[in-house]
Amino acid sequence: MPELPEVETIVQALKPCLTGLTPVKVLCHKAKILRTPDLLLSALGFPIKDITRKGKLILLWTSPYVWLIHLKMTGQLWWQPKIFPLPPHTHLIVSFLHSDYQLRYADLRQFGYWQIVPETKLAQVPFLQKLGPDALTVTPEILKKQLHKKKAAIKKVLLNQQCLAGLGNIYSDEALWLARIHPLTPANILTPLQIDKLAWAIRKTLRRGLKLGGTSIQNYIQPNGQKGLYQRYRFVYRREGLPCLRCGMSIRRINISSRSSYFCPVCQRL
Ligand SMILES: [Zn+2]
Repeated sequence: MPELPEVETIVQALKPCLTGLTPVKVLCHKAKILRTPDLLLSALGFPIKDITRKGKLILLWTSPYVWLIHLKMTGQLWWQPKIFPLPPHTHLIVSFLHSDYQLRYADLRQFGYWQIVPETKLAQVPFLQKLGPDALTVTPEILKKQLHKKKAAIKKVLLNQQCLAGLGNIYSDEALWLARIHPLTPANILTPLQIDKLAWAIRKTLRRGLKLGGTSIQNYIQPNGQKGLYQRYRFVYRREGLPCLRCGMSIRRINISSRSSYFCPVCQRL
């Protein structure tokens, strides 16, 4: 699943392409992808002012409407010339006024969605209301507040978007390894020093992921089709049985709420 670094990479890549362009036509071949078909016609014809990110959600600003795009498990955004063949599993295509390019949305498993919302009603979108603070700028103070009273395993808490927005399975494992915290540690028993280290490790890991253009282990690609490079430099994620980069011990894998967690049994003691 694309996480914060992948979504931010996409947003940064699309910003210079999309800003100023006016969407004039949307073709959607899978009804469930576009959640608000009734708003589509009235939302066309306004130039895109900006493209931003909140957690793992992409926001296309075309005043007076905002287009929300969530890639979920396998969503891909492609920026391609109209004459290029469509990528496999393309379900939605946006064409622009006076442009030979299209924004194409492909999604193998079809869990992702597009939703158009009037700008004035954005604050009422339940998903956004529940979203926690952004993980890219998390501080020890914010983290302490978010973990307070949470007895669940820290790994599970970090995956909860209402606690912190943007982390997924890859970067939460990476951050826990960097902070030397066992993924099963109850969140509410972390010491102030561990919280300090974890806040730093989360920011560090996400920035590293961003700098490397994201992680292309599954099907994530950048809008021009390029792959990210983080997988080559990862610490623990999907490195079961391989030596820990710090101490040499074999990396282990355990299941936490039916997701795999990778950690070093020596560096990350419970
Ligand atoms: Zn180790």
